[in-house]
Amino acid sequence: MRPRRLLSVALLLVFTGATQAPSNNDWVTVAPGSKGPFSLLVSGYFQDEKTWSCAWRAFSAHGSAPIAVPNLTSVSHCPTEVIVAAPGRAMRIIRNGAFSERGGDRVTVKSAPQGRRRLLVMAWSIDGSLSSGLRQYVESANQVFDRCGIGFDLSLEAPKLPDASRLQLQGAGCDQAEELQKIAGKTRGAVNLFLLRERPHYRGAWCGNGESPYKDVVLLYRSASATTLAHELGHALALEHPPFIDDNVMADIGDARHLTLGQCFRSHFAVGSILSASTGSAPRRCDDSKDGAASRCPPLELDVP
Ligand SMILES: [Zn+2]
Repeated sequence: MRPRRLLSVALLLVFTGATQAPSNNDWVTVAPGSKGPFSLLVSGYFQDEKTWSCAWRAFSAHGSAPIAVPNLTSVSHCPTEVIVAAPGRAMRIIRNGAFSERGGDRVTVKSAPQGRRRLLVMAWSIDGSLSSGLRQYVESANQVFDRCGIGFDLSLEAPKLPDASRLQLQGAGCDQAEELQKIAGKTRGAVNLFLLRERPHYRGAWCGNGESPYKDVVLLYRSASATTLAHELGHALALEHPPFIDDNVMADIGDARHLTLGQCFRSHFAVGSILSASTGSAPRRCDDSKDGAASRCPPLELDVP
């Protein structure tokens, strides 16, 4: 995938640097003028020299000047979509049929207003020792997901439990998710986070794997690292362990904090994301076995530097 990314960067440089030759660009302006850095994820039928291909590409920009993108158009199997990504702003899918087959189209798209898409993290303290560090974990998750325009709010409950239940549940795993919810609680529309003592080999867990009905249940143990919560929340937002890099918060190892724009898109819109029902767009079924825009979602590794 890396060569393709390099190619699009190279094309962008060539096109923005060309002053005399008639260029074969289209131009996208983001309104209202966005000062900070922002990125565009664009899908469509792109023209490179004489070849056309259905693809997703990413472009980055500062300020409100139009952004040059290679000539693109919309065809039935490959519609044009533009997604504006900016720190602290929710993503929004803009379907746009205004790109013609010829270069020189000028299209304006609207970014979402300032403000992240919010998700409540309802924390239930079974073992009290995690409660004091919890704010830091949530803050760390907020930093990781700021790039995606997603923010977490925290509410903490310390349910009164009989000592026997507390003892029995303090090292619970996902096989006890039902019990945890019954005895402690459950808030609809939120991520229900259970703070537990310890479980060998675990720092945290998301209980929604496969057909499990507990898509909203996350467990956190005392051995959690600074990014464990961000990682498990990522699972609740439809993100899996990425096959392509270790330098990523969703990698199985380490404490990396990076998310790609391809992952950000999925955390908003993919079927399986706890947020996808509230975006105003139909949840997107991503098919990674298909190439380019035919997969209906940007490639997981799609990003800008
Ligand atoms: Zn994981």
